[in-house]
Amino acid sequence: MKKGIQLYEGKAKKVFATDDKDLVIQEFKDDATAFNNKKKGTIADKGVVNNAISCKLFTMLEANGIRTHLVEKLSEREMLCRHLDIIKVEVVTRNIAAGSLVKRYGFAEGTVLQNPIVEFYLKDDELDDPLMNESHAVALGVATYEELALLKSRAEAINVLLKQFFADRKMKLVDFKLEFGRHNGEILLGDEISPDTCRFWDLETNEKMDKDRFRFDLGGVENAYSEVQRRVLDLD
Ligand code: UDP
Repeated sequence: MKKGIQLYEGKAKKVFATDDKDLVIQEFKDDATAFNNKKKGTIADKGVVNNAISCKLFTMLEANGIRTHLVEKLSEREMLCRHLDIIKVEVVTRNIAAGSLVKRYGFAEGTVLQNPIVEFYLKDDELDDPLMNESHAVALGVATYEELALLKSRAEAINVLLKQFFADRKMKLVDFKLEFGRHNGEILLGDEISPDTCRFWDLETNEKMDKDRFRFDLGGVENAYSEVQRRVLDLD
């Protein structure tokens, strides 16, 4: 597979064309940002770790009937993917209150939610990814009501699989963000699933094992990411 021109550079990844128009290469960087770019830094080897974690999780989801953009892991930092027309909706699913849920609605951090909460955010850095409902998304033309219903049910199904997967590895899946895209008439899960896009707490100690360590300068960022990798890949 020949790596072609760079199509896009985001905060944590670059995307390259290939000689097949249906396929792209996603390359994971070590750059880290938080609070919509207001905090910037690097996390050593994050790209390698997040690629490995994402490939493993997408493979697990595919094995359980969830269609994703993953074709194969190409190298330490590169994932071969189906080319998606990304839907400009970030789908956040929450099992435990943290982050913006605490700030916006006053939940105590750590409150276990009886039913998972699924939220939609507009994927637009200039507007700071505002929270939106289905009517906003449809009015903005980013998705149809049918697509949004599908995103919600897909997120709920993924949550069930991920929650169990992480519980088996002694981690609580607090919340996570998904992105989806259109590919030949189908909606596939895209982007990544990693400590950059999820919150994980250790099952026993509740220690944070995700990007919150970077956001709030808690220290031990690299160690937390590699510990998640160790557990996800069942390394010992
Ligand atoms: N998230 C993300 N990208 C974003 C916003 C949120 O990956 O642009 C993830 C975040 O890591 C967390 C979940 O989505 O796992 C919920 O984030 P929240 O709404 O609490 O916002 P934050 O605290 O990141 O501002």
